Amino acid sequence: MTTLFISDLHLESAHPARTALLLDFLSRQIQSADALYILGDLFEAWIGDDDDADAEWGLTVAAALQTLTGSGVPVFFLHGNRDFLIGERFAAAAGIQFLLESVVIDLAGEPVLLLHGDTLCTDDVDYQAFRTQVRHPVWQTQMLALPLAQRRALAGQLRETSRQATGQKAAEIMDVNQAEVERVMRHHGVRRLIHGHTHRPAIHNWTLDGQPARRAVLGDWQDEQGSVLRCDELGWRLESIVRSGADQ
Ligand code: MN
Repeated sequence: MTTLFISDLHLESAHPARTALLLDFLSRQIQSADALYILGDLFEAWIGDDDDADAEWGLTVAAALQTLTGSGVPVFFLHGNRDFLIGERFAAAAGIQFLLESVVIDLAGEPVLLLHGDTLCTDDVDYQAFRTQVRHPVWQTQMLALPLAQRRALAGQLRETSRQATGQKAAEIMDVNQAEVERVMRHHGVRRLIHGHTHRPAIHNWTLDGQPARRAVLGDWQDEQGSVLRCDELGWRLESIVRSGADQ
């Protein structure tokens, strides 16, 4: 059994090389996988499945995912803080299956908690308040009812506010809070956790309540290099992804 986990690709049409890296990964590098999990922030921004600005580009990504899922490799998706408005229309086009924002899966007989990771950053109080607002179904329904131009403007404002706030925050405030990590692991009865969001790829091993605990943090993608967590009979490994093109 080989299960793959990726997150934080932050795809946008302005960065075609990063999209090409994903398409190459989907079409040539993971055919032998049993499942692919995308733990959020597949896209840099998403203002609704009806966005017509980069519709063709969005369909290209959906079609590549559809080809993989159609070949029998299930793709599971958990929303991130950038693409939480991905909806049923995109999911149907891509053939992906939505996961709850925190979900426990069975991985080789072990329960493993999956999250995007932003909820673990509890030291960032302002962000958590913002998250509570934008993840509320009423806010999302109102947002999606706005004309696209208005949504685009609002999303741009939110990103700018986030950029300014992020620039002023200490690095440790934007990392996970260890006490929160341990609280959610106890709450879900797991000793294994996989998440992204912080862009600090690593596999942390420690002892939690006398038992070995492990937290894998997925890496973010750049134009020339991606990151994947491979889980198989050999264990858990973070690997780099580069293009395997015939042009090399
Ligand atoms: Mn994120």
